[in-house]
Amino acid sequence: MTDEINSVVVVGAGQAGCQVIDSLRQSGYEGEIHLVGEEPWLPYQRPPLSKKFLSGEIPAARLSLRPEAFYEKHKVQRHLGVRATALDAAQQELSLSNGKVLNYDRLALCTGGRVLKLPVPGAELEGVHYLRNIADVDAIKKDLDLARNIVIVGAGFIGLETAAVLAGMGKCEDGCTVTVVEMQERVMSRAVSPQISDFFEKLHTQHKVKIVMRRGVTELVGSNGRITAAELSSGERIPADLCIAGIGISPDISLAAQSGLECKNGIVVDEYAITSDPKIVAAGDCTIHPNPLLDQRLRLESVHNAIEQAKTAAASMLGERKAYAQYPWFWSDQYHVKLQMVGISQGSDTIVTRGDVEQRQFSLFYFKGDKLIAVDSINRPADHMQARRILNNQIKITPVQAGDLSIELKEII
Ligand code: ADP
Repeated sequence: MTDEINSVVVVGAGQAGCQVIDSLRQSGYEGEIHLVGEEPWLPYQRPPLSKKFLSGEIPAARLSLRPEAFYEKHKVQRHLGVRATALDAAQQELSLSNGKVLNYDRLALCTGGRVLKLPVPGAELEGVHYLRNIADVDAIKKDLDLARNIVIVGAGFIGLETAAVLAGMGKCEDGCTVTVVEMQERVMSRAVSPQISDFFEKLHTQHKVKIVMRRGVTELVGSNGRITAAELSSGERIPADLCIAGIGISPDISLAAQSGLECKNGIVVDEYAITSDPKIVAAGDCTIHPNPLLDQRLRLESVHNAIEQAKTAAASMLGERKAYAQYPWFWSDQYHVKLQMVGISQGSDTIVTRGDVEQRQFSLFYFKGDKLIAVDSINRPADHMQARRILNNQIKITPVQAGDLSIELKEII
């Protein structure tokens, strides 16, 4: 039994926040919905920011997840350009930076993450950028025309996607340079296996992006307030008139933690996306949640996670119980290569290749014992789709079947 719900407040106008609203209305909820977002924009897609939005192929208007008419039709009260400043869970009250106070029957925290700032001297210099939102990319674009030596800090998804776009814009030609500095010993080490790291390192090198591994940036050097070089832990100095740091995010747990909700490296929720307060749900990058299929707690930064967990969160607010239990999946586009990943490959003991590495069309199937745990696909989108079905439905597949191109994955399913 649920008490009557007449007012829902959603904090965070991103992918998860947008999905919560959509799912609530699709389920027939007719009460008030308030959407609070710090940025001035309606919820928009972030993945293109380091891809086609940075390259200029798509304008900001095309990033919106839903048109304005969607929010009108569904009577969503928008509080944009406004920050939620305090949460009183006992009183069920949320205070906003514009002085308003919203009362809620149910609250959804979809606060996402905050970009990590470079913890080095010189980080405040002009020409030093981060890449998390539209305003960040607009600022980078303003500096791009004149940039000749670009240093990217961090060879994660953001850093490498950005490097690929800049290489595509000719920023590795005619005396210009793009250098990626990464403190670990391989690229994208947080998310992919050594084999995939190796593939992407070579790919970038072929496109004349310089990758400097096992070194961190220790200082950004400037002249007249503007960056001129990056100093590395090895003592080297790389000339730089533009620096873009992609060193990760930290989950935004500020409201949750301040109001006494259980938090770790994320807002702690159960498989129903419910926090330690039954009237408050949370979804997306900001949560740490159990995954019953993988038997571990995860904090994920992905579109899939935001959407699926938000659906669960919306159901929970209305008193339904729909456990969120799926294999996580992610993707990245770099040059003409599409990388799609499902599952978590860490801990595998057997890796089987399907397809042709030289042709840049292959998938790696990761097994732990005789169990498939993850599949990374490079330019083989059909493999990725089938792998998701195989994993989520726990269909048995052997290493021999996985590697044999004469056996269609469809047949196994
Ligand atoms: P993002 O989603 O922003 O790409 P990731 O966590 O996937 O974040 O990648 C960030 C990368 O930045 C990691 O590979 C990490 O090792 C690297 N990194 C973090 N701090 C530094 C630093 N000071 N210098 C160089 N590399 C760094």
